[in-house]
Amino acid sequence: MSQQGAVIDSLEFARQGGHLTGCIAPGELVRLADVLSDDDGELQYVVTGETDGNGKPFLTVAIDGSINLRCQRCLGPLTYTVRVRSRLAQVEPGEEWPGDELENDSFDAMPSERALDVVGLCEDEILLALAIAPRHERCAPPEYEEKAESQSPFASLARLKRGQRN
Ligand SMILES: [Zn+2]
Repeated sequence: MSQQGAVIDSLEFARQGGHLTGCIAPGELVRLADVLSDDDGELQYVVTGETDGNGKPFLTVAIDGSINLRCQRCLGPLTYTVRVRSRLAQVEPGEEWPGDELENDSFDAMPSERALDVVGLCEDEILLALAIAPRHERCAPPEYEEKAESQSPFASLARLKRGQRN
């Protein structure tokens, strides 16, 4: 938990067109601890609230910055540029989940929360952005490059993960 993490009522925030900015130190992101190589770097977030033409409430989350991850191939440090842009429909209790609308992929949905931890929300979005194992573009010894790489378990794992996304 962060010490002074902002907490918002997500529905009210959306309906009132709220705007909140802040910084997160990578060390605050406890669920990322396993993949971080160190706590250097900084993340800035901007959360804004809005309603669409039908009065449907949304939160928009933008996160920019960099964190130092551990390459999943050589385990060396890897500076990762974070750039998250998410639009999250706020689903009220008892309201139907927007299944069909989600297929166009222009937004996601989450249950509205009266006490939403903004840093936790940002952490969720960063974790989603990290769905593919981070690694250097080139860090293997020369004999592993090109041909050999396409047969390595890492390559097939990467293909599998990409396949899951599509
Ligand atoms: Zn590497």
